[in-house]
This record gives sequence, structure tokens and C-alpha cells, in this order.
Amino acid sequence: MNKVIAIDGPSGAGKSTIARLLAEELGYQYLDTGALYRAVALSLLHTGLNEYATDGEVASALEKTKISFRNGRVFLNQKDVSQEIRSPEASHYASVFSARRAVREFLLDIQRDALHHASLVAEGRDMTTVVFPYASAKFYLDASAEERARRRALELRTKGYDVEEKQMLLDIRERDARDSGRDIAPLRKAEDALCIDSTGLSVEDVFRRILAILREGRP
Ligand code: C5P
Repeated sequence: MNKVIAIDGPSGAGKSTIARLLAEELGYQYLDTGALYRAVALSLLHTGLNEYATDGEVASALEKTKISFRNGRVFLNQKDVSQEIRSPEASHYASVFSARRAVREFLLDIQRDALHHASLVAEGRDMTTVVFPYASAKFYLDASAEERARRRALELRTKGYDVEEKQMLLDIRERDARDSGRDIAPLRKAEDALCIDSTGLSVEDVFRRILAILREGRP
């Protein structure tokens, strides 16, 4: 029986780095669900849709959308979009379109199906609450908005984007509000998730802490 370790939290809290390290350490697959929402956003954008699209337009665009992932790469209709999904535009529209019911339902099966193939470390916004509520361990990874903006700006600069930390902070706050305020699968800490605030902690600190908790058999 495959196992799943579920991690939720806001943008820039360090979920993807930690999830990748944990997956490597445990021999599990890393499931980056944000990448799936980003790929869907690209697909809808390519179809010419934006925040004003009707539910019918979104649903019919999704019928022509095929998302898959293997070896850490994300494919949209067979094309590798792993780079393209990291653009600020894809970030913005992933957050916008992820509030649509049709989008969430479209990705629900894809995410759950991954567990049939391997044990997972899955990270996103609703792993602990909606997608894998029965996960064997649940974590909520948080950090201050200022620290998350700093990390995001650094990450984007290393990818060649020219970004201002101040603008990043505004974007992060806007995304936080949208992710936590939406009606369907909003970002929130599951009651049985263990909260770790990574403000001021190194990746290594957080990784070691989570590993110790998993090895002690908690939570
Ligand atoms: O984690 P990442 O920043 O790549 O996610 C991009 C966007 O996708 C988030 O801002 C969020 O709106 C959405 N998302 C979501 N549910 C998930 C993962 C991501 O709504 N499980």
C-alpha cells in the first residue's frame, strides 16, 4: 500500500524544496501540485482565456487539455512546459484559475491517481484537507510574507527574471488572499497537521525537523 506525506502552506514557504528533499531521502515520488495548476493555467491562457472566462469556456478548454508529469517534468499536451510554468504570468493565472471548480475537479483525479503508482510526498494548498485527508503524515509549512517574498525574488532572479522584492511582497499577499479566501478548497491548516514556521530557519533545519518527526512516528 503506497503512503503519502502531505504538505500544505502559502507560496514561498519552502514546500517544494522540502518535499523534494524528503522524497529523495525516503525513496518516494515528489508530487508538485502547484506545477499542475500552473500547467492548466498555461493551457487556458493559450486558449485565450483570462479571469473573465465563463465556467463553460473553462470546462470546454479543459476537455482539450492533457497534463502529465514524469521525472520531475510537467507536460502539457505532450510538450515539456517545466520552464514556462515558472513565469510570473503563469504564477498569477495559476492562482486565478485554481479558484474555478472545473479546474480543481480536473486535477483531483490526476493527483490521486499518482498514489496508485508510488508513495508520495505531495505539496500544495489542499493536500492535507481535500486531496489526501488520510495522509500518513501532514504538515503545514509557513513563513512570514516578507521572508517568502525575499525567497521568491531570489529564486526568480536566479532564473533570469528581473523582479523587485517590493512587488513580490504585493504579489504574495494578493495570492495568499486569493488562495485562503476562495470558496472551494481554500488554503487552511488541517486540524491534524503539524505547523512549522520556517521564518529564520534554514532548509536544512526544516528538513531535519520533519525527518525527525517522521522517524519518531509522529504526528
Ligand atoms: O505552489 P505554487 O506557487 O506553484 O502554486 C501555484 C498556484 O496554484 C497557487 O498560488 C495556488 O493558487 C494554486 N494551487 C492550488 N492548490 C494546490 C497547489 C497550487 O490552488 N494544491
